[in-house]
Amino acid sequence: MGSQRIEHGPVAGCRTGRYGGGLNTQAVCYRIGRTLIDTGPPNQWTYVRPFVEAEAESPGIDRVVVTHHHEDHAGNARAIQELLDVPVYAPAGSLDRLRDGFSIETYRWVVWGRPAPVDAEPVPDVLSLSDGTSLRTVLAPGHADDMVCYLSDDHDLLFAGDLFLTPQPKYLRYDEDAPTLIRSMHRVLDHSFTDLLCGHRGVVQDGHSALRKKVRYLEALCGVIQRRYRADKQSVDAITRDLLGSEGMMYYASGGDFSKRNLVTSCLTATADDSPAAGSTDAARGGG
Ligand SMILES: [Zn+2]
Repeated sequence: MGSQRIEHGPVAGCRTGRYGGGLNTQAVCYRIGRTLIDTGPPNQWTYVRPFVEAEAESPGIDRVVVTHHHEDHAGNARAIQELLDVPVYAPAGSLDRLRDGFSIETYRWVVWGRPAPVDAEPVPDVLSLSDGTSLRTVLAPGHADDMVCYLSDDHDLLFAGDLFLTPQPKYLRYDEDAPTLIRSMHRVLDHSFTDLLCGHRGVVQDGHSALRKKVRYLEALCGVIQRRYRADKQSVDAITRDLLGSEGMMYYASGGDFSKRNLVTSCLTATADDSPAAGSTDAARGGG
């Protein structure tokens, strides 16, 4: 445990948590201008607080924005709101859950702690920063239905929330949706940026190409899964075992919330129109 400071161009960050136990418990909150982006998990407040206090001293913090409602991102929003008397902004889809609370699996209390309710305001499409630049909100559901990313055109950066996480995911959470995630990645990739600031990994150098590789991996995986299921009539269990292997530590540590099977079944929810194969067939038929 402990924390580590991150500096990347105009961005400062605070990384808390550790690797191990099957789950990556690292989480990062960032500051750009006088805006804090994400707030870390409630049980890391001891480490987040000194970072927030130092940044509030200089250059100052005048608002908090979060990428989605999950407790490892919004978990200290209430504490920071009270500490600094600043507004909290969140995606429209997060507001009710932030105010009224939401149910979380037991392992999530253990890993991240339990968030206090917070009154947030809907985040605008464009946020003006204290350095004269701005952040644009890009909708990015799939990991969570309310998630957004924040794009800094001027600094060529993307605050990615939990869109990236890992280059080649082998697990999916029960409430994540692979086809929606793929569409969100393409929406984000339509914008130009170089490095990406991940909510758990920290700085991902050349994050635009890393995210492009991740979406290609997911699309290829979905294609193979669909073919094996529909054409080869393989069972979900057989496909999971063949392509991803047996469930590992992530599955047990999360009480089954993260599973390889979830990733396979989620790829099967894609309709024919969503699949990359259907898109390329249409393009071929169209003949340019
Ligand atoms: Zn999340």
